[in-house]
Amino acid sequence: MANIVAIVGRPNVGKSTFFNRLIEERKAIEDNVSGVTRDRHYGHATWGGKFFSVIDTGGYVTGSDDMYEAEIRKQVKLALEEANVILFVVDCHDGLTDLDKEFAKELRATKKPVFIVANKADTPEKAMMSAEFYAMGLGENDVFTIAATSGSGTGDLLDEVIKHF
Ligand code: GDP
Ligand code: MG
Repeated sequence: MANIVAIVGRPNVGKSTFFNRLIEERKAIEDNVSGVTRDRHYGHATWGGKFFSVIDTGGYVTGSDDMYEAEIRKQVKLALEEANVILFVVDCHDGLTDLDKEFAKELRATKKPVFIVANKADTPEKAMMSAEFYAMGLGENDVFTIAATSGSGTGDLLDEVIKHF
């Protein structure tokens, strides 16, 4: 069976930045505009001698009839179905938001391993913020703090992720 990792979470938490760090080619669109990555993007990555595919998704948005948001939701749902491992990205700058909590509720239904990835942990102070993400009662492991821009923390996370492959 193929090894597939889905990167999900609300807009602007750094999913595409992280995706680009993981994969060899630059494919995802990084942007400050929320939900700019509307489609699913696929890339390939290796870690610890394991080969896997990574899916970047658009930001998760709830409670809107907007077609654009409906399309994002559909793409996220498909990515979740396809994946063996789910990386749920949250943001240490913003802390735990209502949208994160809603997303966590949906992820709790999945039988797949979910890793909480607390991104933008640029400094030890920011990394301390990640403690509040445990309150979501989700994730089979610890909350992993990373900084997608520098790559710090991503190795420890990937060491755990590839145990599922
Ligand atoms: P997405 O909407 O979740 O895909 O988020 P993006 O990858 O497009 O990133 C949104 C913004 O967060 C961009 O301005 C990124 O440069 C920024 N960002 C991503 N990772 C980090 C990080 O580790 N630290 C900081 N400070 N900013 C980050
Ligand atoms: Mg994106």
